[in-house]
Amino acid sequence: MTHRTRPRSRICANCDGFASVAVTLGGRNRHGHLRTITAHCPACHGTGTTTRPAVRQAVSV
Ligand SMILES: [Zn+2]
Repeated sequence: MTHRTRPRSRICANCDGFASVAVTLGGRNRHGHLRTITAHCPACHGTGTTTRPAVRQAVSV
């Protein structure tokens, strides 16, 4: 009997696990709250993990 493990989810190399961040736009709205937008990491689409192996960057020395 073979037991297949789930593919490991790796921490996204692009955002290091911090997939969603709130970016302040500056100023406050009329309720006194900071105006923010939520930005998701484009590489992992806000999940913080990726099942794809990290892409190695070609380094020419
Ligand atoms: Zn990411």
